[in-house]
Amino acid sequence: MKGLTIDEDRVLALTRELVRIPSVPGGTGNGEAAAAERVRAELVDLGLRPQVAEVAPGRPNVLARLDSGRPGPVLLLEAHTDVVSEGDPSTWSHDPFGAELAGGRIYGRGACDTKENLAAALCALRALRAAGRPRRGAVSFVSPVDEEGLMLGIKAFIREGGAAGVTGAVACEPVDGLATLGTCARGGVRLAVRLHGRMTHGAVALAGANPLVALGPLLTALGDLQAEEAARAGLHPLLGRFSLQPTVVRAPIRGTPQLNVVPGNAEVLLDLRTVPGQDHAALTARVRDIAAGVALAMNDSHRGGREAGWRREIGYPVLDPALRVEVEVLDDRGWVDLPADDPLMAAATAAAAAVAVRPAAPFGIPGTTDGSMLRNWAGVPVVVAGAGSVRQAHQADEWVDAGEPVGAARMYAELALRYCEEGGDSGATGGGRFA
Ligand SMILES: [Zn+2]
Repeated sequence: MKGLTIDEDRVLALTRELVRIPSVPGGTGNGEAAAAERVRAELVDLGLRPQVAEVAPGRPNVLARLDSGRPGPVLLLEAHTDVVSEGDPSTWSHDPFGAELAGGRIYGRGACDTKENLAAALCALRALRAAGRPRRGAVSFVSPVDEEGLMLGIKAFIREGGAAGVTGAVACEPVDGLATLGTCARGGVRLAVRLHGRMTHGAVALAGANPLVALGPLLTALGDLQAEEAARAGLHPLLGRFSLQPTVVRAPIRGTPQLNVVPGNAEVLLDLRTVPGQDHAALTARVRDIAAGVALAMNDSHRGGREAGWRREIGYPVLDPALRVEVEVLDDRGWVDLPADDPLMAAATAAAAAVAVRPAAPFGIPGTTDGSMLRNWAGVPVVVAGAGSVRQAHQADEWVDAGEPVGAARMYAELALRYCEEGGDSGATGGGRFA
């Protein structure tokens, strides 16, 4: 590989060392900070001057840059330090934070998602630094916190200008082995639809307004919207179709539900998963229109329908409005689609071909990664690539094939060389040789 040497033993040892640091946010110990400290020390040892930027108390991002001092493309290698909870340890047959090596696999939380790829990115940087490469452009590095949560780390990195000048990024994450490149990802919109009626005794229902009655038409209309949009947006070859799923229903929104009480309010949480081309703002507006339409129908029937007559018969007031609705956007993460003619696509395809036993195939990422934020908040073209398979991520007995992290390190180094040294001119890098 073009005069670069990957220290294979180091990739394996560093992977295991990082897995042994339980970087579960909110878990015992100061996990993310301890992992960040290990990353920082590694960057210093390989000859860079890392920056540590605290995102929240005890939750630092680590940043570094390998700069040729000459203009050219700037590639960002991104690998998060946090891991999800190990869950119930009794469901594991290996110590979740033991990094045990058995049958050619490394076991442990984060062995697949994504400590091995963090180690691989660091070892790729070491090989590049030792060889005085790249000869043009720069390789940037960030290990953010909280990828598995609200992505506070990458959001802070972008807000503080970390992605400025970056022309392409690799989200160092498991896809489905080294021969797969995550070239697109679904977007996600999370909405809360809240229906406010009036609480009353179940035996005198006409004295109130039951928001659950409006829930039926609401869910039916949302089902129609899903079908219509899924047909309109069409079948994406790697990501499938758009989906809109109600995932949580609560009534009342707070407090204890009771069989003989008509709840005063209700809430439905919606999980929308989009494919490239869909407009999140327009979709959210459609949901608002549907909710408003449901409220209008219920208010019309309260004012002038059969129940309005029944109310007048017994002297109950007609509620106006009987139902009020609101829609809140809880989260909005755009979709990702790497254009086929982006230089990052060519570099990633060639790099994967150089290390994998079969030709690289594009892969659709069903969820969102930090790469989704880099694409949507900073406009950076992104590819997701690394050792491991998403099928092993977040499971009990999470594992990675012990040979794959070395392949990932080679792929990242190869990708950096192809992208920075052979890619098109796209902006100048900052000063400082290999700062
Ligand atoms: Zn991950």
